[in-house]
Amino acid sequence: MQLNIGGLIPESVVDGPGIRFVIFAQGCQHNCKGCFNPELQPFQQNRLMTVEEIIAMIKEHNSQGITFSGGDPFEQAEGFTALAQACRKLGLSIWSYTGYTYEELIQKPTKLKLLQELDVLVDGRFVLEQKDITLKYRGSSNQRIIDVQKSLAKGQVITIQ
Ligand code: SF4
Repeated sequence: MQLNIGGLIPESVVDGPGIRFVIFAQGCQHNCKGCFNPELQPFQQNRLMTVEEIIAMIKEHNSQGITFSGGDPFEQAEGFTALAQACRKLGLSIWSYTGYTYEELIQKPTKLKLLQELDVLVDGRFVLEQKDITLKYRGSSNQRIIDVQKSLAKGQVITIQ
């Protein structure tokens, strides 16, 4: 299975706790005003990589976790689900950003499947009017940092900060 990748950052300290390997999905339909990665919005072919190729790169680095960003990883839910499952086998924690809300994701079976593989979801579109540079790991105050496994178990959104 191939993923359409907009970029990779092997060592990031701003996309979740610790040193994280960040994978950017190419393609996003949310069109947020003030988007910080507008070049990742078009659904055009960028760098096609297999799960195995990405995992091989991850293994070359001493990452404490993986973060999916974009673009929107949930537009390639099947590919990112396979990648998340492979990352889990390495024992790595998985965060993902998305422009969708948690409530939207749980209604779509393919997207729910990806959600189920995550530890943490940072959800919701970037809203320029609610931009707050003091917030950690998110750009605007409407976005939530969600403990996915606890939220799925309880049937309600549980945030971690
Ligand atoms: S969800 Fe993220 S990548 Fe997509 S338009 Fe909004 S800010 Fe940009």
